[in-house]
Amino acid sequence: MIIVMKHNASRESIERIKEDISEMGVQVHEVEGEKYCILGLVGDTTVIDPKQIEANEEVEKIVHVQEPYKKANRLFHPHDSIIPVGSELIGGTKLAVMAGPCSVESEEQIVELARQVKKSGATFLRGGAFKPRTSPYSFQGMGLDGLELLKIAKKETGLPIVTEIMSPKMVEKFVEDVDVIQVGARNMQNFDLLKELGKTNKPILLKRGLAATIEEFLMSAEYIMSEGNENVILCERGIRTYETYTRNTLDLSAVPVIKKHSHLPVIIDPSHAGGIWWLVEPLAKAAVAVGADGLMIEVHNNPAKAKSDGSQSLKPEKFHSLMEKLSMVAKAVDREI
Ligand code: PEP
Ligand code: MN
Repeated sequence: MIIVMKHNASRESIERIKEDISEMGVQVHEVEGEKYCILGLVGDTTVIDPKQIEANEEVEKIVHVQEPYKKANRLFHPHDSIIPVGSELIGGTKLAVMAGPCSVESEEQIVELARQVKKSGATFLRGGAFKPRTSPYSFQGMGLDGLELLKIAKKETGLPIVTEIMSPKMVEKFVEDVDVIQVGARNMQNFDLLKELGKTNKPILLKRGLAATIEEFLMSAEYIMSEGNENVILCERGIRTYETYTRNTLDLSAVPVIKKHSHLPVIIDPSHAGGIWWLVEPLAKAAVAVGADGLMIEVHNNPAKAKSDGSQSLKPEKFHSLMEKLSMVAKAVDREI
């Protein structure tokens, strides 16, 4: 962090700022130019609130030379993080494929879908039990009963389960029952929830907020990691733009940008990004080509009767043929599916 003082800043005020900062354990190096005095700070600057320093009338501006996230930053962890989940790894050469319905609807539905997606090569079963719906009158998910059905599907197929948590009160239950805990787009900045999940050691799938910048996204990962849980997987699922044709706009560049700045694995959810079933295939191919570590794809045996997100769900046969095509794209970028 660099503090640029105003050209007429008094010596007294420069010394006061230097003293305040040194007291916080951060080294201050002063560079006195003809017009400006510059203070270069070295050390753990997370203890400093830049807004407080900027409130000083004799401070011109603050320049950040480092990102505000530390644990998620590649600078301090140069190698890619690989997150183990049971016998699977997320972030290695093999792509993680999380497939299943938007919502768990019945035992028959979830067990049958789990069998089908597994046969096609999925490595995780996804399914929502607690659903964050835009309308309070829409299906809200089966709740705890849905969680029980996911456990049955896991027992039948061996697929680890990924499902969304909405309340900090449910953390203990999810830690017990779930393999990967999903934090949905709408809760990306539910900081109480993130902090509670940070106290566990469960893998957390953190989805990008509806209108979150990449830095805000990484700061949410930092909330979880700063509490001690470094098992975070990021998920780009489209962001809100002026375009209305698609449900969201898939930000493909987020993958290489995040990978440049962070060591965390990044997967893509083409289903919620496009919002239309026939867009899932081209977006999934692009996701693999751009370097994503995996995919989250909604699959339903009867999309026309689905209780949520039917229009973006693939039928199992379509998912099967998609997986075959994706294996060729994966090979082209030295990955496996
Ligand atoms: C979901 O995965 O079903 C979901 C609600 O996703 P998002 O939080 O990305 O909207
Ligand atoms: Mn959905």
